[in-house]
Amino acid sequence: MKVGSRRWEVGSGETEVGSRKSEVGSGETEVGSRRWVVGNGETKVDFLGPAPWSDGDATRAEETHALSDEIRALARKKNALILAHNYQLPEVQEVADFVGDSLALAQKAQGTGSDMVVFCGVHFMAESAKILNPAKKVLLPNLAAGCSLADSITPESLLDWKARYPDCTVVTYINSSAEVKALSDICCTSANAVSVVRSVRSKRVLFTPDRNLGRWVARQVPEKEVVIYDGCCPTHDVLRGVSVKGQRNRHPEAVVIAHPECREDVLAMADEICSTSGMVEAVARHPDAKTFIIATEWSLVYQLKKRYPDREFVIADGCIGCRLHCPYMKMNDLPLVKRSLEEEVFEVTVDGEVAAGARRALERMMAVPRDR
Ligand code: SF4
Repeated sequence: MKVGSRRWEVGSGETEVGSRKSEVGSGETEVGSRRWVVGNGETKVDFLGPAPWSDGDATRAEETHALSDEIRALARKKNALILAHNYQLPEVQEVADFVGDSLALAQKAQGTGSDMVVFCGVHFMAESAKILNPAKKVLLPNLAAGCSLADSITPESLLDWKARYPDCTVVTYINSSAEVKALSDICCTSANAVSVVRSVRSKRVLFTPDRNLGRWVARQVPEKEVVIYDGCCPTHDVLRGVSVKGQRNRHPEAVVIAHPECREDVLAMADEICSTSGMVEAVARHPDAKTFIIATEWSLVYQLKKRYPDREFVIADGCIGCRLHCPYMKMNDLPLVKRSLEEEVFEVTVDGEVAAGARRALERMMAVPRDR
């Protein structure tokens, strides 16, 4: 199947995505350790206990523990740091040295004494880690793990927008390619987007590529004129306010926490709007609340449940079929992490000139504090 520049060969064991090519076995992701409870229009991810493999399947639990032990031993032997984004499969989060959002992971990758970084996330994240750590070997377990939002802006389209708005400072979300970052003045993440836009000197800002995040930032920083690019994350953009309203009707006392990549009608219903790591902190601000409706990719609930086992977390459903599930984030699994360490694949590299430009934009971003 060909989708734009991406080619998928499912079944042959080979997947090619633009310039990224990987052998991914059967191409299947097993989500067998979790149970989805669907009823009354409600979807829950029931983790059935503190560990993702605690689903009563003793053989699977043993296999998963054994695989995790092998991965940890390999990481020690190779002096490798395993980083995992909050949207990774729970068992991948468990095996990682550190789990967090894009900003936290970018900071963690920097200044570590490890020789290599295995980045359990998507391609632009591994690319950013490489840019910030040029001397380290940075590995992505599955090269097919891309990002629709990052792909929504190309260097050519950014150059076109820059030509149309020459007096704008270009603020680019970290969910973008190295080439796009290199053409930008400064990067941001959802954890510091407001502070970054506030920090730039010019009155006019071109915010790329996420339109929902851009609109939300523009509302927080009324003193700036923000021109917003028209990209989005399909995982978040598909969620509608009416779905969140349905969840709120079922859980009238619940606190709604939403990611700023969600649409305006969703954000209008939110009590808290923040990055994924910000969401983990936000729960602590509501000590009396028992239930939280979470409007972001479902794996974040695993971190929330670990941190707050006595609270209930309900996923704010999207349409039937989407379920706030990022297919790219779920392309890494334990066998691929193990192979990544064993064979030191797939190494992510960035052209020197592009890396220098992208590093400048990323380092400017890192100098700006989190929004809160
Ligand atoms: S959740 Fe959205 S922005 Fe994040 S990796 Fe998936 S497609 Fe990209």
